[in-house]
Amino acid sequence: MDTRVLHTSSRAQRRLIAVASGKGGVGKSTVSANLAVALARGGRKVGLVDADISGPSQPRLFGVEDRKPGARDNKMIPVETPAGVPIASVGVLVPAGQAIAWRGPMLANALNQLIDAHWGNADPLILDLPPGTGDVQLTMVQKHRPSGAVIVSTPQDLALIDARRAIDLFAKAGVPIIGLIENMAGYACPHCGETSDPFGSGGAEADAARLGIPFLGRIPLSRELRAASDAGTPPAAGNGPDAAAFEEIAGRVDVWLTANGG
Ligand code: ADP
Repeated sequence: MDTRVLHTSSRAQRRLIAVASGKGGVGKSTVSANLAVALARGGRKVGLVDADISGPSQPRLFGVEDRKPGARDNKMIPVETPAGVPIASVGVLVPAGQAIAWRGPMLANALNQLIDAHWGNADPLILDLPPGTGDVQLTMVQKHRPSGAVIVSTPQDLALIDARRAIDLFAKAGVPIIGLIENMAGYACPHCGETSDPFGSGGAEADAARLGIPFLGRIPLSRELRAASDAGTPPAAGNGPDAAAFEEIAGRVDVWLTANGG
């Protein structure tokens, strides 16, 4: 990759924190939503951009699929959510089940509009990126220059290999990696209480150490978490063990934010 091109692009004034993963299905959208909620609970005025343009899931995760965003001066007004985090997503514009099959320029245009919405004094914006290291990610990194990136991976080897590619994309573009989050780590059986590790355990933390990037924490594989997410009530807004896991991770991101611009 030609990093010279990346470094000449303009930088958004408000901070953007990219949440990325090397592959889909590792819980990147779930983590983005709950990280934003936990940061808001901690007193940050955050906004959430659903940059997974072709597969938007934030409206569902926040239970606002039927809400239409307003517009003023040709700019979108983000949708307020019960969990206290405003979101901007094409998911509230395109009916569920309808394909969003847009080509590169349209995707880039949509991303610009979401980032350029009426965010008031929200800072930072959390960006839920599409999985992988393709066009949208590259445009995002080149044009919008996020202040930092959070990488989500499961403990699985394959997910970790892909996560390393995502890390490399940001590293080459000079975007600091805030750290790695291990999702779906360990499953506590609700019947016998025994913890098992369907995807292995500790792989992401070991990988983070090897790569010299901070480890931000792990989120257990949790039936409650999935049920709450499906119901449109982010678990980080509640009081259970899942909320505690997100609170701990958000605390580390909060420390990074304070050290990098306040
Ligand atoms: P991605 O954005 O990486 O594609 P999602 O956030 O959409 O992944 O998550 C994929 C599926 O896995 C969703 O059904 C979600 O509810 C579920 N999920 C994510 N994290 C967890 C977890 N820690 N425990 C249980 N289910 C999870």
